[in-house]
Amino acid sequence: MHRFFVPPHSIKESRVVLRGTIVHQIRDVLRMRPGDDIVLLDNSGWAQRAELVTIDRDAVRGRVVEKWKLETEPQTRITLYQGLLKGQKFEWVLQKGTEIGIIAFMPVMAARCVISTVNDVSDARIERWEKIIVEAAEQAGRAALPHLSNAIMFPHACEQAGRAGLALIPWEGERSRGLREALQDVPKSKEIGLFIGPEGGFTEEEIATAQERGVIPVSLGPRILRAETAGLVAASAILYELGDLG
Ligand code: SAH
Repeated sequence: MHRFFVPPHSIKESRVVLRGTIVHQIRDVLRMRPGDDIVLLDNSGWAQRAELVTIDRDAVRGRVVEKWKLETEPQTRITLYQGLLKGQKFEWVLQKGTEIGIIAFMPVMAARCVISTVNDVSDARIERWEKIIVEAAEQAGRAALPHLSNAIMFPHACEQAGRAGLALIPWEGERSRGLREALQDVPKSKEIGLFIGPEGGFTEEEIATAQERGVIPVSLGPRILRAETAGLVAASAILYELGDLG
């Protein structure tokens, strides 16, 4: 069944009124008919099955026929601090990261990023990123939409993550501390900040800056992963280690 994230105000008691791009999606793309069912997600942790009643050009109306609590959010809350990447690689990370169960994405401007300032991240690009997250969250049946922040500078990101809880920075130069070791005795419901570099990786100065702010370098093993792979592998491994992948 098709799942859609909708603004909470589109559901009042059991009456559903949907407007905007979802109307085109239901009417023209999916060619749904009155009597068909959809599942509505409103970021509250609940899912509601609605039967479509009328499908017009400007609005789709329906009624809620069933409601249940979703148990799809991981207890371990990972924020991915991802160095900005070229082309579509950042989009891939958002899409796959949402499926895996990342809670928040923080685009980070690091020394070796190809773009030069945070202002190079256009509003149109952010809007596209948000759309990718929504679609991935619908597909994955997430109970809550992962949060996407504006791009921030690396030192600022380290400060924020260092204050928030456990913060890890996978670095291929780390020889002793592995990811598993860093997760020992970490409670399941923990906030974890995870830093992944851009294509060229982090500089030694950045690793030093991170450490000063309490962000711990870890190894992801002997093979070098691409920037768009590393965060997904690390996030999956963390969720697995802490019992969040079933
Ligand atoms: N500078 C490297 C590649 C960087 S990979 C080179 O060109 O050789 C991009 C990011 O992925 C790194 O900044 C790091 O955060 C992460 N990463 C990839 N492989 C890793 C590994 N084996 N251990 C720890 N981190 C890794």
